[in-house]
Amino acid sequence: MAFEWSDFVTILKDTEIEFQHLKKVQLAQAILESGRGKSDLFKLHSNPFGMKYRPEMSGIAIPVSYEASDGADIYCKFETLQDAVDGYWIFIERPVYSGWRTSISSPEEYIEFIAFAGYIGGASAAKQIYVDKVTSLFDEASELLNFSPDPNVIWKKNGVLLEIGHGKLPSRIFDPGAIGVNSKNEYNLNQIATKAAQRVIKKAGVPCDITDAVASLYRLGKRSAGYDVFCSIHHNSASVPAQGAEVLVHDHKADSADLILSKIMSAEIATELGIRDRIARGRNPRQRLGILSGAEDTDVRAAVLAEVYFIHVPVPDVIDWSTRGGQAVGRAIVDWLTTNQG
Ligand SMILES: [Zn+2]
Repeated sequence: MAFEWSDFVTILKDTEIEFQHLKKVQLAQAILESGRGKSDLFKLHSNPFGMKYRPEMSGIAIPVSYEASDGADIYCKFETLQDAVDGYWIFIERPVYSGWRTSISSPEEYIEFIAFAGYIGGASAAKQIYVDKVTSLFDEASELLNFSPDPNVIWKKNGVLLEIGHGKLPSRIFDPGAIGVNSKNEYNLNQIATKAAQRVIKKAGVPCDITDAVASLYRLGKRSAGYDVFCSIHHNSASVPAQGAEVLVHDHKADSADLILSKIMSAEIATELGIRDRIARGRNPRQRLGILSGAEDTDVRAAVLAEVYFIHVPVPDVIDWSTRGGQAVGRAIVDWLTTNQG
């Protein structure tokens, strides 16, 4: 009796796993490793993941010698497809993958972690090729899993990732951002605005994470992989008296989806605070920004950087302004998602 691919997909679909959003990674790996159920390792031994045998698998699998494309080796043989689905997560509990639970914010982050931890042998180029191949199968995996498109759900991926501009740098030096005429530095105000935006987005039922990670700007932007929207939150300053809101996009990687979000958000902040909408007034939103460069190199649907207002000119109450400005950022993102702009 040969194992059937459609049976495997059904069983995987019906299995409760610890992190449901990683199920599409598990399936994408199986699609790749088994050639959609066409490998003999799958058909004869119920192993769609190309998992080699390891002692930790002794409770759920038995060793079998198998000639794969990259040579003969000892692989896992499972008695049932359910054992294969469960066995995958036992395999991932092995010490070589320890700490994997800290790399699960997105399916992309998870597959990158396990590929580089040792799921794929050889040079890092080979590992990266594997990551790219698996990632490119996520949509197919999602469709197979029939992730029900709930009409009330306005996001398609992992929701929104907000980034608090400035703070601790990779060098461990603290970067306060722009210094205003008020008692708070930019970083403090970025925190206030980001949290206010998150509250609005979560209230609309959309998942919303905040990152304040220590990484180069490009790497920080790369964290937006798997999200619908990425927004880095800042406050502006200039050498001349000016007040206004502006929302920036990457100079050459931005597309119309990013530009629409920039427009909606800049208008929303300006209206909320009663200040100039610099984007509507002709300011070019396209700027060379490392963080947006990283974000645009992921599958994020839209990525922007908000400069809520200028802090080098006095405003009545910075905490109130940053809170309301942040709420406007949140509303703009919800608007963009609701009207499904990209
Ligand atoms: Zn800034």
